[in-house]
Amino acid sequence: HLKNSTIKAELGQSSWKLLHTMMARFPEHPTQDEKEALRSFIYLFSRLYPCGECATEFQAILAKHPPQVSSRETASQWACAVHNIVNKRLQKEIFDCGKITEKYKCGCDDEKIHKS
Ligand code: FAD
Repeated sequence: HLKNSTIKAELGQSSWKLLHTMMARFPEHPTQDEKEALRSFIYLFSRLYPCGECATEFQAILAKHPPQVSSRETASQWACAVHNIVNKRLQKEIFDCGKITEKYKCGCDDEKIHKS
């Protein structure tokens, strides 16, 4: 049982990291196509997330809080807010979404170019 919860936690940590880092790299001024791509990704992610109970819970959160894809800032803040909803349910600490920009970097060579 302990082993399973460790695996589930690791999957969660990796998934959140990917999700938040994607948001940090999402265009500041996305095209309609880029907005649709992010929206689709989030819904498909919620369907395909390998922990079934987590996926079901996340779909319920999405129904109440649809993905915000109009810009990097709105997408990042949306992801932070939905992660906090999950944190609250799991009785974890609430993250300060004002600190999201400094936390998620991709280590990509072109990070500076994509900043603006
Ligand atoms: P995590 O929540 O994994 O967070 C990792 C790190 O991200 C934290 O240490 C912190 O530095 C940072 N962080 C925390 N909050 C935020 C935030 N709001 N915005 C940005 N960064 C933040 N587990 C279950 O047991 N039941 C579930 O129903 C469930 N549903 C999930 C649904 C989804 C979509 C995902 C991705 C994961 C889900 N998980 C679920 C896993 C759970 O959310 C945690 O990932 C896991 O419990 C490990 O928690 P953690 O304390 O290591 O921190």
